[in-house]
Amino acid sequence: MSNSRRKFLKSLTGAGSLMLLGNKKPAHSTIPKVNPDQFGVLVDTTRCVGCRQCEKECNSINEDLPPRAAEDFKDKSVFNERRRMDYRSYTVVNRYESVNKSDNPVYAKFQCMHCLYPACVSACIVGAFTREKDGAITYDAWKCIGCRYCMAACPFQAPAYEFANVLTPQVRKCTFCFNTRLSKGQIPACVESCPMEVMKFGKRTELIQNANEKISKNPGRYVSHIYGEKEVGGTSWMYLSNIPFQAIDLPKLGYHPAPGYTEPIQHAIFKWFLPPLGVYATLGGIWWFLSSKKKKEQSDA
Ligand code: SF4
Ligand code: SF4
Ligand code: SF4
Repeated sequence: MSNSRRKFLKSLTGAGSLMLLGNKKPAHSTIPKVNPDQFGVLVDTTRCVGCRQCEKECNSINEDLPPRAAEDFKDKSVFNERRRMDYRSYTVVNRYESVNKSDNPVYAKFQCMHCLYPACVSACIVGAFTREKDGAITYDAWKCIGCRYCMAACPFQAPAYEFANVLTPQVRKCTFCFNTRLSKGQIPACVESCPMEVMKFGKRTELIQNANEKISKNPGRYVSHIYGEKEVGGTSWMYLSNIPFQAIDLPKLGYHPAPGYTEPIQHAIFKWFLPPLGVYATLGGIWWFLSSKKKKEQSDA
């Protein structure tokens, strides 16, 4: 075997073996410390009237989303079913019955919660999600391999997948307006556009103080709990409600950060998952070696 062939095979099998073994320590395995001054949003669902202006503004600021006519957002028939975020929408507003059926319905807006300990970051095996220091969880489509572990890991069913895009499907979720507005010193578009001031943007610690004041100064108006203050270790987007949170589709979750649950899965995946490129590199090397050997035998004959 010539030296160059040996070197080539060595490099192929070396690369393959490395990938087959997997990088046991993904770059994002260390969960960053939470910045106490990070931003957040407090959503007071008791103020929401279901006008869907927030959905409209989100769609218009995010050029990645398919453009939609303004008329689409005036359609109130969407409230006849419970919607989830999808490839066309980073945020959706749903309608719920109040506990006392004669009272006005309750409306609640949902988007990615921008968790303090995000399960999507922990679950993504290629590090396509990043926790920015101000609290936003961002996504890099270039790194994404479409495995959708993030979707399985998210306790809020926030990430959606572009199943309709056959060639370049991406995961879609609220960006916290990180590139479009936050990085320019502006508040998120949905927060700014809401005519009812349902959402308050600010430092997360101050929002918690503000929420506690609202609860104590308005007895009977709110359930005495700030959803997201502690759930799954805390979320940047937090909620107040006058009906139980589970009645507005916010799941009952423990206070333990979700990555505590998903990291073992991720690490198991890293241990046993055979990345296709590693397999192909190794198989390619074997095929190349065997076919060269056969050719040599034929030419020697
Ligand atoms: S809500 Fe889901 S997608 Fe958003 S940061 Fe948390 S785990 Fe990630
Ligand atoms: S923060 Fe920005 S991306 Fe997220 S729902 Fe609001 S407008 Fe949409
Ligand atoms: S813009 Fe404000 S009031 Fe209108 S649906 Fe959105 S959160 Fe509710």
